[in-house]
Amino acid sequence: TPGRSAGTRPGAGGLVRVRGAREHNLSNIDVDIPRDALVVFSGVSGSGKSSLAFGTLYAEAQRRYLESVAPYARRLIDQVGVPDVDAIDGLPPAVALQQQRGSPGVRSSVGSVTTLSSLLRMLYSRAGSYPPRQPMLFAEDFSPNTAQGACPECHGLGHVYAVTEQSMVPDPSLSIRDRAIAAWPPAWHGQNLRDILVTLGYDVDRPWRALPKKERDWILFTDEQPVVPVYAGFTPKETRTALRRKEEPSYMGTFSSARRYVLHTFATTQSAQMKQRAARYMVGRVCPACDGRRLKREALSVRFAGMDIGTLAGLPLDRIAETLRPAAEGRFAVVSGAGATMGRAAGRRASARRVAAGGAAHAGASDVRRTPELSEEKRIAAQRIAHDLVERIGTLQALGLGYLSLDRAAPTLSPGELQRLRLATQIRSNLFGVVYVLDEPTAGLHPADGEALQRALAELRRAGNSVFVVEHDLEMMRRADWLVDIGPGAGQHGGRVLYSGPPAGLAQVSGSRTAPYLFARRGTPRRPPREPRQWLQLRGVHRNNLHGLDARIPLGAFTAVTGVSGSGKSSLVSQALVELVCRHLGHDPVAEQTESGAPRADAVAPTAGRIAAGADAVRRLVDVDQKPIGRTPRSNLATYTGLFDHVRRLFAGTRQARARRYDAGRFSFNVAKGRCDTCEGEGFVSVELLFMPSVYAPCPACHGARYNAKTLEVRWQERNIAEVLAMTVEEALAFFEAEPAVRRPLALLEAIGLGYLRLGQPATELSGGEAQRIKLATELQRSQRGDTLYVLDEPTTGLHPLDVDRLMAQLHGLVDAGNTVVVVEHEMRVVADADWVIDIGPGAGEDGGRVVAEGPPRAVAAAGGSRTAPYLRQALG
Ligand code: ADP
Ligand code: ADP
Ligand code: ZN
Ligand code: ZN
Repeated sequence: TPGRSAGTRPGAGGLVRVRGAREHNLSNIDVDIPRDALVVFSGVSGSGKSSLAFGTLYAEAQRRYLESVAPYARRLIDQVGVPDVDAIDGLPPAVALQQQRGSPGVRSSVGSVTTLSSLLRMLYSRAGSYPPRQPMLFAEDFSPNTAQGACPECHGLGHVYAVTEQSMVPDPSLSIRDRAIAAWPPAWHGQNLRDILVTLGYDVDRPWRALPKKERDWILFTDEQPVVPVYAGFTPKETRTALRRKEEPSYMGTFSSARRYVLHTFATTQSAQMKQRAARYMVGRVCPACDGRRLKREALSVRFAGMDIGTLAGLPLDRIAETLRPAAEGRFAVVSGAGATMGRAAGRRASARRVAAGGAAHAGASDVRRTPELSEEKRIAAQRIAHDLVERIGTLQALGLGYLSLDRAAPTLSPGELQRLRLATQIRSNLFGVVYVLDEPTAGLHPADGEALQRALAELRRAGNSVFVVEHDLEMMRRADWLVDIGPGAGQHGGRVLYSGPPAGLAQVSGSRTAPYLFARRGTPRRPPREPRQWLQLRGVHRNNLHGLDARIPLGAFTAVTGVSGSGKSSLVSQALVELVCRHLGHDPVAEQTESGAPRADAVAPTAGRIAAGADAVRRLVDVDQKPIGRTPRSNLATYTGLFDHVRRLFAGTRQARARRYDAGRFSFNVAKGRCDTCEGEGFVSVELLFMPSVYAPCPACHGARYNAKTLEVRWQERNIAEVLAMTVEEALAFFEAEPAVRRPLALLEAIGLGYLRLGQPATELSGGEAQRIKLATELQRSQRGDTLYVLDEPTTGLHPLDVDRLMAQLHGLVDAGNTVVVVEHEMRVVADADWVIDIGPGAGEDGGRVVAEGPPRAVAAAGGSRTAPYLRQALG
């Protein structure tokens, strides 16, 4: 194992002793875990790994910390509850790096998550070259997220939204009566606007394109809001007569142009649906004032290494490091025309010392000629800050993230990328004596990038920390100092410690579901690859780092797309392929929305490219992504899959419910009549805390049941509705044995390895992988007609190898039924079992974006120049 010799010996720090842990499904377990070691917690999904690592160990460390820093937190701790455990000895303070559930704020970026942005702003403020006579700016003036830094035109967004005739009138051959103005509201409100136009004398029966431009512009863009008489239900001719005779109108109507309506709705509506609808008619384009660089003009006029801060922040970290390295090493480039020369390091260091000693900021070294822009003080500041930046970027590069740019919005990052960003920030923080608790840090990592991660974790450990990892990656388990295997099954079938010791010892444990995979001789795939017969041909694809890529995907087959992180797999599969097929099927362009409801920034540049062949063989596209199935605790797997509708109907059908005239709505926690008033059906209330993120505590009125007492009196087969929501899928399967409509979705959830989830588990508590599998189960529940293209981005994230096998069985079943499956995947066992492999690369960012190798797994495994090939060869045995 690398790096063992340096630093502390693993386990030298003694033991963390856990006694009587009972959190969630843990069955009163005792376990001793070494400190100062890399410890992996393994087991199938739902076995209790997180309940031990996060729910018990981290939660307890957190509780002790809260108690020590804030005595007033005691009340809070009482409310939130303490982990259910008798005792834990030897537990150091802990830092959790959990995969983000839900998405981070729209305005956070790689730069803000890593705090590199503030350092870069300091560099520009203190050491940038300013145009003559421009006063020095503060660091905040370089931030697009502050009022003083943001571009006044786009408020720091980098793009502006506009409505155009094209966006609001997609089909100009229609008349206004036939809804040419698609952006106008539907139903009555839209009719009202049309009637107003009739009163105003516009022809609503001619095709839109036949109307004079002046009229079209007024209807779409005017800010006037005339109030006119409306004769509802009258023909244009009858309206004209009525107007002439000054008849009493049905009512007075207020006109609103389509632009006014769209922008007003977007800005003010409370309904997410309305907002989304309005956004559909808005087009984003790069802000003309700042050219997408998001800052005010003065800030953009300051340069470092010849570049403004917006341009620099848009480069991949690899390029930023390259750009800053000369300054970090004290080599300053000649500033164009200003006559600066490079100084020798020795001379500069001498003057640096003088300044530091409080002497006059006067450069004594004769070989340094100063420029007005870059004075001696500036050079010293520049070197120090640039050095720090280059070092910190180095850590990110080591974790395989050098392809990201600083201004990359955090919501566009995968959870794995985000976790590694946070990990890198921790590594630089120089803490020691801490337990880091991580959640599947290999998620989204190509095996080649996994090695860098191993080194980073080893470094944390060597510095005197304990690293506890919940992980499914077999390589990570092999390299651990210690393995804790939980199981054997999920939920009530798990929760026991099957093994705790050095990895090799697990081989002797017969009940372990992990052991067979960890010690398996790597075998050959189970069946020969299917022969591709027909192809979906993509031509000239431009998206992110794909520049004119041609690619082909076999139809009726299982394709795995591989490549190192950042090589362009998602750009090809989840973005370009999905968008092009959607366009061909005539769907709306995939309406990606940010949290604020605004169209996503990258919707500014849609995918370029076309489908040259095969498109007609695809009749439906299903993108099974890892986005949450809902953003509030009000959605859960029962509501998402639709099975809760059937359950509520069963309750409404009981004699008790009928006697009280309770309908199915009564049994929804989203409807006022049946739910608990105090928490409005959420089951918990949020407790706001000064200086800390708010936390949730069970509702004091219903204790988490979500319903009012009256509703809970109604029972079906002796259970009330809250008790049903508290069941796991597996329990519910037995309970609803005789109800096919409920049984069917439950059986699919179970088959896909989700038997351990509770029906009422809020969407916000589900991991991305669980959300993805729920979507897949919901999809499997529909009748299969073939000809569907399924797209999945890293479906094995968060899955134990055993669960991976179950998932693969389902996906291969879809292919057998005549469908096409395309997955982005790092797990080589899955790739080895595919019919076709497309390897993208060879590197990340601009070093990637090409098809390096394609073919059946064995062919790609033999390809030269592919970074995937060696790992695939191993998996093929
Ligand atoms: P793993 O990390 O091994 O996938 P978990 O520790 O997340 O497993 O889950 C173990 C069991 O505890 C599962 O049956 C799960 O449904 C249950 N569980 C997880 N989180 C909660 C929670 N917040 N409340 C109640 N039960 C939970
Ligand atoms: P992979 O899926 O192979 O990890 P991606 O397709 O996500 O790779 O990324 C390929 C390149 O495109 C990288 O340089 C990445 O930073 C960039 N990229 C990906 N998604 C976006 C996005 N939404 N906005 C800007 N750049 C992106
Ligand atoms: Zn702007
Ligand atoms: Zn309540």
